[in-house]
Amino acid sequence: YDLKNEDFRDIQDLGQGNGGSVKKAEHIPTGTFMAKKTVLIDAKPNVRKQILRELQIMHECHSKYIISFYGAFLADPNICICMEFADKGSLDGIYKKIGAIDIDIVGKIALAVLEGLTYLYDVHRIIHRDIKPSNILFNSKGEIKICDFGVSGELINSIADTFVGTSTYMSPERIQGAQYSVKSDVWSLGISLIELALGRFPFSDSDSDHESDSDLEATLSPSTIAALSLNDLHVVSEEGDDQVPLPPRRPLKRNKDPAATAKDKKKDKRRSKGVSLQGGGMTMSILELLQHIVNEPAPRLTEGRYPKVAEAFIDACLMKKPEDRQTPKELLEHDWIKESRESTVDLVAWASTF
Ligand code: ADP
Ligand code: MG
Repeated sequence: YDLKNEDFRDIQDLGQGNGGSVKKAEHIPTGTFMAKKTVLIDAKPNVRKQILRELQIMHECHSKYIISFYGAFLADPNICICMEFADKGSLDGIYKKIGAIDIDIVGKIALAVLEGLTYLYDVHRIIHRDIKPSNILFNSKGEIKICDFGVSGELINSIADTFVGTSTYMSPERIQGAQYSVKSDVWSLGISLIELALGRFPFSDSDSDHESDSDLEATLSPSTIAALSLNDLHVVSEEGDDQVPLPPRRPLKRNKDPAATAKDKKKDKRRSKGVSLQGGGMTMSILELLQHIVNEPAPRLTEGRYPKVAEAFIDACLMKKPEDRQTPKELLEHDWIKESRESTVDLVAWASTF
């Protein structure tokens, strides 16, 4: 396809996220329905062109567990990314509509995400970096596919600045400034699966004494959060709770992470402790949440309510030390995933219920 903006007819808003909005649109010359993501890029022309070049690698990503890519083009001041449209939307939207998702279906989701991550890493050496329910899509053919993986360092750079934090799927090692690895994606998968099985984001602040600041929204990049959390976690620890202060670690931006920019330094100075996260009656500031992820035991599926083998899989995803955590490829051999592969649960029938 040679895609250009004037060849599209917008049909429907699908949602908004990190610095972009997604619409269902028809590509008129071919009659193809696509998901068209528009990202506002505050960058010079050569950076935009660089982003476009970096996105081209998505043309080579072919897997039934990966949303396919039609192409990307510049529509000043935006970049448009056109991809396969998933008619049942993302899993966050689905569970918010129908409630907690049956564990057999969650098993199929785990299998699909692990297959997608393994494909991306084994074939293209791509680490996803943003596994969460809104980046796992579903369609009425019963297919589960991942989207929005980090192929363009320059794009990550450009949109990181407008990140709006609602919940975080970031692993403890990432919060403490380590590089992304495929194992960080596994942590994010574990958190996402609990969220889908429970029907709510799994962290709650019931064990913390914090005054509510629920009206505020965070506008910090993941890298900024990672960088500032180091200092703030330290301060919070010293301030009272009897938690062991974290050893000072190098912030992410010194680790040559493409998501870390000079702009983050500016934001560091403007940082605020009043940022908050909401969802399902829970309110926790971002810093509290980050502190919680690093210092507290990982969340688990409620004991007894789910098959033991599913609980064991989630526990394996949520090993706090990356050394103890398996890779997506290793986890494809887990008993729960083997069971899920064999499971005859009917995803087409399930799709027809909402
Ligand atoms: P986020 O993933 O943070 O929610 P995005 O801008 O990536 O933000 O996407 C916004 C919403 O658009 C998603 O939550 C999802 O429901 C919807 N969406 C994204 N891509 C597609 C797609 N290919 N098909 C259908 N819906 C999509
Ligand atoms: Mg997304």
